[in-house]
Amino acid sequence: MLIDPPQRLAPLGTQLPSNDVAEALARRLRSETEGEVMFDIGSRGRYATDASIYQIMPVGVLVPTHERDIATAIDIARDLKVPVLARGGGTSQCGQTTGAALVIDNSKHFRRVLDVDLDARTATVEPGLVLDHLNAQLKPHGLWFPVDVSTSAQATLGGMAGNNSCGSRSIAYGNMVHNVLGASAWLSDGSLLDFGPVAGLGGRASAIAAFVRGLAIQHRAEIATHWPKVLRRVAGYNLDIFDRQSERPYTSDGSVNLAHLLIGAEGTLAYTRSLTLQLAELPRAKVLGVVNFPSFRAAMDAAQYLVKLGPSAVELVDRTMIELSLANPAFRATIEAALIGKPAAILLVEFSGDDRAALLIKLRDLVALMGDLGLPGSVVEMALEAPQKDLWEVRKAGLNIMMSLKGDGKPVSFIEDCAVPLEHLAEYTDALTEVFARHGTRGTWYAHASVGTLHVRPILDMRHGGPQGGAAKMRAIAEEAAVLVRRFKGAYSGEHGDGLCRGEWIAWQFGAAITQAFRAIKNELDPAGLFNPGKIIDPPKMDDAALLRFAPPDAPRPYRTIALRPVLDWSAWNVQNDPLTEATTPPGSGGDTTGGFVKAVEMCNNNGHCRKFDAGTMCPSYRVTRDEQHLTRGRANTLRLALSGQLGADAFTSEAMHDTMDLCVGCKGCRRDCPTGVDMARMKIEFLAHYSARHGHSLKDRLVACLPDYAALASRVPWLLNLRDVLPGAAWLSEKLLGLSARRSLPRWRSDTFWRASDASMFSSRDETIAAAAAGARTAVLFVDTFNGSFETENALAAARVLKAAGYTVHTPTRPGGHFCCGRTYLASGRVEEARARAGALIDALLPLARAGIAIVGLEPSCLLTLRDEALVMGLGERAETVAKQALLFEEFIAREAGAGRFDLELKPADRPILLHGHCHQKAFGAVSPILDVLRLIPGARPELIESSCCGMAGSFGYEAKHYAVSMQMAEASLLPALRRAPDAIVVADGTSCRHQIADGAGRQAVHVARLLDSLLE
Ligand SMILES: Cc1cc2nc3c(=O)[nH]c(=O)nc-3n(C[C@H](O)[C@H](O)[C@H](O)COP(=O)(O)OP(=O)(O)OC[C@H]3O[C@@H](n4cnc5c(N)ncnc54)[C@H](O)[C@@H]3O)c2cc1C
Ligand code: SF4
Ligand code: SF4
Repeated sequence: MLIDPPQRLAPLGTQLPSNDVAEALARRLRSETEGEVMFDIGSRGRYATDASIYQIMPVGVLVPTHERDIATAIDIARDLKVPVLARGGGTSQCGQTTGAALVIDNSKHFRRVLDVDLDARTATVEPGLVLDHLNAQLKPHGLWFPVDVSTSAQATLGGMAGNNSCGSRSIAYGNMVHNVLGASAWLSDGSLLDFGPVAGLGGRASAIAAFVRGLAIQHRAEIATHWPKVLRRVAGYNLDIFDRQSERPYTSDGSVNLAHLLIGAEGTLAYTRSLTLQLAELPRAKVLGVVNFPSFRAAMDAAQYLVKLGPSAVELVDRTMIELSLANPAFRATIEAALIGKPAAILLVEFSGDDRAALLIKLRDLVALMGDLGLPGSVVEMALEAPQKDLWEVRKAGLNIMMSLKGDGKPVSFIEDCAVPLEHLAEYTDALTEVFARHGTRGTWYAHASVGTLHVRPILDMRHGGPQGGAAKMRAIAEEAAVLVRRFKGAYSGEHGDGLCRGEWIAWQFGAAITQAFRAIKNELDPAGLFNPGKIIDPPKMDDAALLRFAPPDAPRPYRTIALRPVLDWSAWNVQNDPLTEATTPPGSGGDTTGGFVKAVEMCNNNGHCRKFDAGTMCPSYRVTRDEQHLTRGRANTLRLALSGQLGADAFTSEAMHDTMDLCVGCKGCRRDCPTGVDMARMKIEFLAHYSARHGHSLKDRLVACLPDYAALASRVPWLLNLRDVLPGAAWLSEKLLGLSARRSLPRWRSDTFWRASDASMFSSRDETIAAAAAGARTAVLFVDTFNGSFETENALAAARVLKAAGYTVHTPTRPGGHFCCGRTYLASGRVEEARARAGALIDALLPLARAGIAIVGLEPSCLLTLRDEALVMGLGERAETVAKQALLFEEFIAREAGAGRFDLELKPADRPILLHGHCHQKAFGAVSPILDVLRLIPGARPELIESSCCGMAGSFGYEAKHYAVSMQMAEASLLPALRRAPDAIVVADGTSCRHQIADGAGRQAVHVARLLDSLLE
């Protein structure tokens, strides 16, 4: 256990207890609860941050299994005077989920819907339940919980209540406080209270209500003077429940509900055990009007008139976001469809309800209104839901692209949700833009125009100290923004809460008397000061350098990184940026002590998107374990802490680091799905290289890595190598000696490899192929990888036959006594030198063909895509770039050629439905839709994509005994059940290991798309 000594004069909630106390806490939690108790430095580090700029090491972490674990933990913590910090997804933006406390993570085990009353349209839920998961359960009943936060895939209801969260459609449905009907919660003295309508309360809850009412009456004048009158005020405690100041009533009948006192309290008053929520009917129809504005100001000015039409959302997308979306091929067509000319900004005005005809009338009213406002012809009408959905996706993705800015300057969230009355929105945004300019930065505006809460994040470099540093600029900008908020009678904190970032602005916003009243509320409910100290009451300064994740050199503990020579090229991240233009300096110029590796790691801003369970791949190991450690974010945080020396000496190559990286299957789901492009699969290669340099390679790792080298020899004595799956006890022995699971069969060696079985007449020589290309003939290079070539000869032969049948001159590269290899198996063990040698030889062989513009077509996604990915960061130079540009998966090539009218293939219809499982690397490189396109070339085929994450096999991962259970759980998460639901379907899977997993888990023989096409050739 490594607990720092007590600090002096530290702000409340940031000071760790002594080692003795921490040890006693850990000991008692272990003996008196059944939860997971984690007090090691790595686990604490993973809970030291949320999506804010702050970092505070907690005392320890408890992942409780039962409710009684929570109650017991509160009692133990109270005895030992250690603060308690409740946590959901940890996606808060203001630091409210960080503290030197015992962190209790509800998100793993407290995610049940306890009760749904369809007639009353209410649901009672546990605090760790994620919003999207609740809504998925409500959907069949035509209901939803309508506080639609952008983080709906990872935000928990407990956290949403803690922050008084607000969704895009708050103009129609209100914030969290408007939609909670009751709460059951523990007070710090251990009592469990029901908070609900005041009229029905008894005992202690009734006394609390009386106390708060007394304060409200006492401060009536102050409340009337200081309380922001806008819908989006989430700061402080909701003292106004007894004297409502919000634009929208808190209850439907005007009564007072004491549960509302806990909403937005950031876990400082009580620990929520369950919440009762008011549900809404799912709107049956939605229409969208996209209003195009010639100036940003005109858009801001129009918002106040647009809301009078009764929209369910009015969301802003500014010119920067439009440009970012246009630059992205995936979004270009969608955003173009929403634009008229070159607008400076667009507003997405949504109407929703049950009566489609009525909504269409509203859309016409919108068109008429814009004419009246002097902008006729400015509305793109979207009556169909599909384009609407696409456009909402673009709106979300724009933010993600913005957050992926490389360099130390980052868009910082601290005034990004001030709310001002709509009549002042234009003036406010103009003035704030000027403030940014004065401080040498600028912000991109987006989001909730309907309620005057526009998100904007100026780019600041928090690692720089002094008067020109990020913290100093943050304070200066915050102070000037505050003046504007006051001038326009707005709310300083309108969506994301107070936390560490805005706590100090509570007194500014509400005045001394109300601030004292807040303190009285805290003392009434939590006299021990147990719950999340330093938030709302006695907060620290927002720019306290000791609390910053990337603390500047003049901070008590500056952020410094270790020196490390990376084995892969990370120079693209080793840059700095210009906060005004966002232009980045040349690769390698950023001053990173690790050549850019740690800056790539630091791209994780803790937004928690990798905790999602919906479509997409990221992150399979989290999906089955629900452990913060086995999550992309957890890995990135651990790497960052290790590389900055915060986990002790040599932490980067420690066993603890290995444990954290171990369940990463290298699926590259994060490469595609993480908003900031954290590529943990590549980071794992870098890690393994350093780890194995210190600890060496296991025999199993060596056998797997070198497989391409001994494949030719092995195929000469296949019976010998296949004995492992035949001889009784051999599989058991291989598990004992090598760690290969006895429950797995291994790929079967064969003597008729592709290289022996293929007919030389099928292929042309390299020179012939280049000459044919020069003469305008259809040409292709078929790169046959070790796996298809050694174990599934039929696939490679099928691919060759299909290409030939479509009229292509085909070349396949071979070398004397063997074949070429991309180096993938070496990369998987971090043996980058050997991988570089293998990939270099392959690239040299392919280079003349690539230079001749001939496509290099591969079958195994992880092998072919190595040429487009890792081969570019192994120091292979321009030749690797040239080859990468021509490297295509078999299906990408066919889809491209068919699209260009060059692929003539006569195919028979398939006799069964077709199900497709995409390989993770295909998904990461957007190569799944080409397979669907190719499958649709089959007459009458309507292929269906299985919505699945990683199959769980992932190269050699699933073959390993220690991973077998996790591997099968990954497969069972969605893939195998989908296959069982369609027993007659043809299953297409292009990945070798995916096919093996499908055979092991479902007893089905999946086929490569090349095999299917070949079998249907006329
Ligand atoms: C990219 C991005 C977009 C966002 N968009 C939105 C948005 O559209 N609208 C919005 O409102 N917010 C938004 N947020 C902020 C954040 O996602 C929300 O506030 C979310 O509801 C927090 O949920 P969580 O589960 O992560 O809570 P956490 O961060 O884990 O916790 C939030 C607070 O609740 C407290 N808490 C948690 N559980 C309990 C409990 N059982 N008892 C008592 N207190 C508890 C915590 O102590 C903490 O103070 C966004 C954040 C990011 C990173
Ligand atoms: S890894 Fe990516 S998705 Fe996960 S928290 Fe970090 S930035 Fe977000
Ligand atoms: S590569 Fe896959 S398993 Fe690894 S962190 Fe990324 S999404 Fe998770």
